[in-house]
Amino acid sequence: MAKVPKNEETMIKCICNACPTYNECMQSGKLGVFCSAGDEIRCFENEQGCNCQDCTVSSDFDFSTVYHCKDGSADRQMESRSR
Ligand code: SF4
Ligand code: SF4
Repeated sequence: MAKVPKNEETMIKCICNACPTYNECMQSGKLGVFCSAGDEIRCFENEQGCNCQDCTVSSDFDFSTVYHCKDGSADRQMESRSR
């Protein structure tokens, strides 16, 4: 699959900040679009639900992975699934 870009369009579409797992650390770093950069782990604390499958970025780029703030970008997760 194509790598998800982290740009103005995906930043606007990203609904991470409405998710219960999105925490203060992510908020203070203005982090989002984890399905692109996979700058996960740095802030992740507990799994409390993930909104990724309700986000239009996942339908635009046709991926079914979730918890990108914990498990990395969508393309990385797809890669490790196919191994
Ligand atoms: S990747 Fe999923 S779990 Fe993580 S902040 Fe975004 S919507 Fe929430
Ligand atoms: S799929 Fe998840 S991480 Fe990616 S832009 Fe949407 S809510 Fe954010």
